Amino acid sequence: MEIELTAPNGRRWMQPLGLFINNEFVASSNGQTITSVNPTTEEDICSVYAATTDDVDKAVAAAKKAFRDPSWRQLSGTERGALMYKLADLVAEHAETLATIEALDNGKPYSVALKENVPEVINVLRYYAGYADKNFGQTIDVGPAKFAYTIKEPIGVCGQIIPWNYPLDMAAWKLGPALCCGNTVVLKLAEQTPLSMLYVAKLIKQAGFPPGVINILNGYGREAGAALVQHPDVDKIAFTGSTATGKEVMKMAAATMKNITLETGGKSPLLVFPDADLELATTWAHWGIMSNQGQICTATSRILVHESIYDAFLERFKAKVREVSVLGDPFDENTFQGPQVTRAQYERVLSYIESGKQEGATIALGGEPAPQKGKGFFVAPTVFTNVKPHMKIFREEIFGPCVAIVAFQTEEEAIQMANDTTYGLGAAVFTKDLVRAHRVAKEIEAGMVWINSSNDSDFRVPFGGVKQSGIGRELGEAGLAPYCNIKAVHINMAA
Ligand code: NAD
Repeated sequence: MEIELTAPNGRRWMQPLGLFINNEFVASSNGQTITSVNPTTEEDICSVYAATTDDVDKAVAAAKKAFRDPSWRQLSGTERGALMYKLADLVAEHAETLATIEALDNGKPYSVALKENVPEVINVLRYYAGYADKNFGQTIDVGPAKFAYTIKEPIGVCGQIIPWNYPLDMAAWKLGPALCCGNTVVLKLAEQTPLSMLYVAKLIKQAGFPPGVINILNGYGREAGAALVQHPDVDKIAFTGSTATGKEVMKMAAATMKNITLETGGKSPLLVFPDADLELATTWAHWGIMSNQGQICTATSRILVHESIYDAFLERFKAKVREVSVLGDPFDENTFQGPQVTRAQYERVLSYIESGKQEGATIALGGEPAPQKGKGFFVAPTVFTNVKPHMKIFREEIFGPCVAIVAFQTEEEAIQMANDTTYGLGAAVFTKDLVRAHRVAKEIEAGMVWINSSNDSDFRVPFGGVKQSGIGRELGEAGLAPYCNIKAVHINMAA
C-alpha cells in the first residue's frame, strides 16, 4: 500500500496509496485508482486508490462506530487536545517531507509549502487543541423555580470535502475544529492532490487517534464526494470548493437536512484610494493575486484604482510582477510562481485570457502560456486593462495569475463596483485615511476586509464569505460553532 518516492530535492519517503479507513490503508473496493501528475514536468507521480460508494459506506460506518466508542467518546477535552498536540508535533517533525510532497503534487514552491502551508497546519491544530477543554456551555439564570444549563455536544460524523489549492491547510482548517469538539471525520481529498494528506494519515495513526476517528479518502467528487454528502449516517458536511459545486452539495444535503458549512469562490476587489502608500499597495496587490499561482479563493483579482493614480499604480504593478513573479521549478528557491495545478486548470485560465482578448480588454502584461524547458502547466502572470464590468474576466473567478485593473472616480463608484458581484469573500482597501478605511470596510459586502494588506488571513480570525461565497465560518473561535450542537437542559426546582 506504499511506494518509495524521490523528489528533485533528493528527499525520499514512503508514500501511502490506499484509502485510510479505521487507521489502516486499504485498496478501493473495485481496485480503481487516480494517477497523480506532476504539473511541472507533466509526468505521472503515482496511482492512488480512489473510493467507490462502497468505500464511502465503509468509512462512514467506521466513523459512526468510533463516534460511539468510549475510546473517543469518553475522552475529556484535555485528552482530545493532547492527541491533537501530538499530531501537530508529528507534522512539525515531518515538515520537509510534507512540503516536498506538496510541491511535487500541487506545483507550489517548496519554500512556500515549508514556510507557510505546513506551519499553518501546525498552528491550526495547536489552536484548536487548546480550545478542546475550553469550549463549554453556560448556566442560565431563569429564576428560582427552574435551573437551566447548556452542553456543547459534538454533531457526530462530519463529512469534509476539500479542494486542491491548499491540500494541507484546507484539511487542517476542517479537522482542527471537528476533532476539538469531539466529532469523527470522513475527509474527502481533492482527486488532483491527494498525496500530502495521505502521508498525514500515517501521522494520525502514530499520534494515537483511535481507529475510525479520522478516515481519509481520495476519490472523485461526483462519486465519493456525492456519496458522502448524501449518506444518511453523515451528520454534517463541510465543503470548500467552487460555488457551482457548493450549490450541488447544498441540494444533496437537503434530503437528509444536514448541517452544512460552505467555503466557495470569490472575485475579491482591492481598492486603492489617492492617498494610499503606492509601494505598499503594489506589494500587497501583487501578493493578493499572484501568490499560489493565483489559485486562491480570496485572490484580490479586481484591482480598482482611483483615476488620479491609475497610471502610476499600473506602471509600478507591472514592474512588481516583472521583478517578483519569477516562474520556474517549485524546487528552485528563486521561484515565486510554479505551474497551475492540472492541465484542466491551465486550459481554463488560458480560455479566460482568450475571452478577455475577445471581449476587448487590453493585455498589459503576460497573456500566454509560459512552459519552462518546454514543459509544465505554466501561465504568464497576466494584467488586463480596459476592462469593462460586463466582461467575463471582471465577473467570473479565473483562479489563476490574472488580474483586471480598473479606474474609478469616486468612493461611491468604487464601492458600487466592488459590490457588483455575486461573490462576497474578501476585499482590500488601501488608504491612509482612517475614517475612510473603516467607512469603506463597513460598506463592502464581504466576509473579510484587509486594510492596507491583502490575503493576510490568520488562524485566530474567522474566515468565510457572504453572498455566493459561502455559509458559515472557519478558523478563530467562530470556527467551533459549526461543529457542535447546543443542548439545553431545564431542571424543575419547584417542589
Ligand atoms: P470543486 O468544487 O470542483 O471541487 C472541490 C471538492 O469538491 C473536490 O474535493 C471535489 O472532488 C469535490 N466535488 C466535486 N464535485 C462534487 C460533487 N458533486 N459532490 C461532492 N463533492 C464534489 O473545486 P476545485 O476546482 O477543486 O477548487 C477550486 C474552487 O474552490 C474555487 O472556486 C475556489 O474559490 C474554491 N475555494 C474556496 C475556498 C474558500 O475557503 N472559500 C478555499 C479554497 C478554494
